[in-house]
Amino acid sequence: MNRNLRLTAIKEVAMRRVNSKAVKNCDVTSIFGEDVFNLKVMRDYLPKPVYRKLLLTIRKGETLDSHIADDVANAMKRWAISKGATHYTHWFQPLTGTTAEKHDAFIEPDNDGGVTLNFSGKSLIQGEPDASSFPSGGLRATFEARGYTAWDPTSPAFIKRDENGATLCIPTAFCSYTGEALDKKTPLLRSMQTISRQAERLLNCFGEKCDSRPITTLGCEQEYFLVDKGFYLARPDLIQCGCTLFGKIPAKHQQLEDHYFGAIKPRVMAFMSEVDQELWRLGIPAKTRHNEVAPAQFEIAPMFEELNLSVDHNMMVMETLRLVADRHGFACLLHEKPFAGINGSGKHNNWSISGAGRNLLDPGSSPHQNAIFLTILCAIIQAVDKHAALLRVSVATAGNDHRLGANEAPPAIISIYLGEQLTDIIDQIEKGGAQSAKAGGFMNIGADTLPVLPKDATDRNRTSPFAFTGNKFEFRAVGSSQNCAGPNIVLNTIVAEAIDEIAGRLEKMPRKDFNAGLHTILQDIIKKHKKIIFNGNNYSAAWQKEAEKRGLPNLHNTPEALKYWATPENIAMFEKYGVFSQVELESRSEIFQETYDLVTKIEAETAVNMVNTMILPATIAYQNKVAGNVTKLKELGLSAGLEAQLAILEKTGTRLQQATATVDRLEKAIAAGDSRQTIACQHELRTVVDELEGLVDDSLWPMPKYSELLFIY
Ligand code: ADP
Ligand code: MG
Repeated sequence: MNRNLRLTAIKEVAMRRVNSKAVKNCDVTSIFGEDVFNLKVMRDYLPKPVYRKLLLTIRKGETLDSHIADDVANAMKRWAISKGATHYTHWFQPLTGTTAEKHDAFIEPDNDGGVTLNFSGKSLIQGEPDASSFPSGGLRATFEARGYTAWDPTSPAFIKRDENGATLCIPTAFCSYTGEALDKKTPLLRSMQTISRQAERLLNCFGEKCDSRPITTLGCEQEYFLVDKGFYLARPDLIQCGCTLFGKIPAKHQQLEDHYFGAIKPRVMAFMSEVDQELWRLGIPAKTRHNEVAPAQFEIAPMFEELNLSVDHNMMVMETLRLVADRHGFACLLHEKPFAGINGSGKHNNWSISGAGRNLLDPGSSPHQNAIFLTILCAIIQAVDKHAALLRVSVATAGNDHRLGANEAPPAIISIYLGEQLTDIIDQIEKGGAQSAKAGGFMNIGADTLPVLPKDATDRNRTSPFAFTGNKFEFRAVGSSQNCAGPNIVLNTIVAEAIDEIAGRLEKMPRKDFNAGLHTILQDIIKKHKKIIFNGNNYSAAWQKEAEKRGLPNLHNTPEALKYWATPENIAMFEKYGVFSQVELESRSEIFQETYDLVTKIEAETAVNMVNTMILPATIAYQNKVAGNVTKLKELGLSAGLEAQLAILEKTGTRLQQATATVDRLEKAIAAGDSRQTIACQHELRTVVDELEGLVDDSLWPMPKYSELLFIY
C-alpha cells in the first residue's frame, strides 16, 4: 500500500471531472435576489404604513419604530418559511474577523403536543448570544458575558441554504451589555454616519441641498487561490494555517505571465459559474471573474454598493467561495500569501462617496462640481497624509505582513497615486494665487472647469497602495482574508475629520470671499500634505529612500504598526467623531496583538510538527536508501558512483543537522513567546527544508510540491 499522501493525491486529481451541477441556461434576472428580503419582498409582505416606516429607516437612517417590529418579523418569517427555512439566526461579525451565527428554530410548543412557527419582533430586533468566547480585549469580563446582537435594517435579511435546509440570516451589530462595540459592523455604521454628516455639511457650504444623506460606496475586488482538495488534504500547513510553510519555488511559476486573464480551465469555470449563481440569488452583484497573475490565482469583483452592504456582501462572497470550492473538489485559499515567491492575494478596496445625486469623486462637468471634487480630493490628501500610519495599521495582520512590501503587492509605505494630469492640476492650485487666470496656466477654483480626465489614463500605476482611479480611490493594501470593515472605518473617519476642518473654515467665510477663500484652503492643504503624493514605482528601492526623506512612515510589520493604533491623537479623533471610545480602541489593540501572536505561534508549531514527522523521516528514508547502496558497492568492491553517493549523503546530512538545530531554536523562541525570533527561525527552517526538497528522492517527498499545487487542477 502506498502511504505517500502526495502520490495518492496526484492520482486522484488526475481523475477529477468537471462538476456541472450549476444551472445551465440560468435566468439571471429571475434568480437575482430571490433569497433576499429586499424592498420588493417587503412591499409584497408588509402592510403599506409599516413598509413606509421601515423604508425611512433603511433609506434615511431614521431610528427604527419598535411598534412595527412585530409586523416586520411576522412578514420575514412567512417569507423565510416559503423559502424552506426552519431556523433563523442573527448574523454578525465578531472581532475574530469572520462571521458568526447561532440558529434558533421558529418552533414554539402549542398546548396539544405540537408546535407553531413563531418569530417575534423582539427576537428580530435583539438577540442575546452567549458572548463569552468571542474576543473582547478585556472589554467584557466573562462573568458578565452577555453580548447583544441588534438588527441592522440597512442590510437586508437573506436565506442561507445548505444541502438539507435553509436558515433566515439577519444581519446584526454585536455589542456588550454596557453598549461597547464587540464587532466590526457597529463602528463601521458609526463611521459612515460621521462622514455622511460632514459631507452634507460641505455640500451645504457650496449651496447644495441633499434630499438624502451622502453615502460612502465600496466595491471590493477579491483575489483567491484554488488548489485541489486532494493536495490540500496532504498538506497540514494548508489545513492548519491556510498557507504553505514550505515549498521550493518551481522552475516555472509566474514568470511568463501566461495565467493573467488567460482562458479559464473548465473545472474552474464550472466553479465560478456556480459561485456567481449563488451570489446572484443572494442579491450580490457579482460582475467580473478572471485569472489573476499567479498560477491558480483568480479574482471575483462585484459591482459597488453602499459601504455597509458591500462589506456584508464581501463576507458572503468569501464564504461562498469556500463552500462552492469544496463541492468542486477544490480548497479556496483566501490567505494573503499562500505561496512564498509567488504573488499574494489582496482585496482592492474601491471607495468613494456620493451625495447630491452624484459620485463626488467624479470630477464633474461644471466649474461648481469641479470645485467640490477638488475639495474632497484635497480632504483625502490631507487625511491620508496625516493618518498614513493609521491606515497602515488597518491592514496589519500576520498574513498581510508577508505580502505588504514583498516587492509585489503594495509596499508598507502608504502614498497616494493621482496620475500626471491630476497632479498637474494640484500643482497649479498650489502655485496659483486667487488672482491668477487660466491663461497663466494656473487654476482658479470656481472659475475654471477641470479638463475631462480620461479614466484609463489615471490608472496605469499598479504599484500604488492608494490610487485614484478615475472616480474613486482604490486602497490596495487590504488583505484578501480581511473583513473590509476595519480599513473603511479608518478611511471614513479620517476623511470625515478633514472635511470637518474644511467645512468649519468655509462656514466662517463671508459669501463674497468664498472662491478666494476656498482656494487658500486647498492651497494650504496641498502645501502641507503633498508629500503623500507619489506617482512613481512604489516597488523601487529608491522610493524607500525618498519616502524616508519625506518623513512618511514605513511600518514593516504588525507589531510595529500596532503602536500607531491607540495613540492619544487617535483616541481623541475617534472619540470626537463617535466611532470608537477609548476603551473600544484599546481593546482592539489588545485583540489585534493577541491574534498576531497566536497566528505566529500556530504557524511555527505547525512547521515544527511537519519537519519532525514528515520532512526528517523522508530525508532519513532517502539517506537510508543511499547509504544501503554505498555499503553494497563497497562490498562488491566497486568504486564508480561511490563518491557521488557519498556527496549526496553529505549534502542531505548537513541539512538534516541544520534543520534539527533550527527546530530546537524555533521551539525555544515559541516557548519564550518571542514572535520576532520565531519568525526569523521559521524562515531559516524553511530555507533548509526547501533545499532538501530539491535533493530528496521525489517518490519519497511526503507533501505536494508547488509545481503540483499551482499547476495540476
Ligand atoms: P479595475 O479597477 O479592475 O479597473 P473597475 O474600474 O471596473 O475595475 O472597478 C473595480 C471596482 O470598483 C468594481 O467593484 C466597481 O464596481 C468599483 N467601483 C466603481 N465605481 C465605484 C464607486 N463610485 N464607488 C465605489 N466603488 C466603485
Ligand atoms: Mg482595480
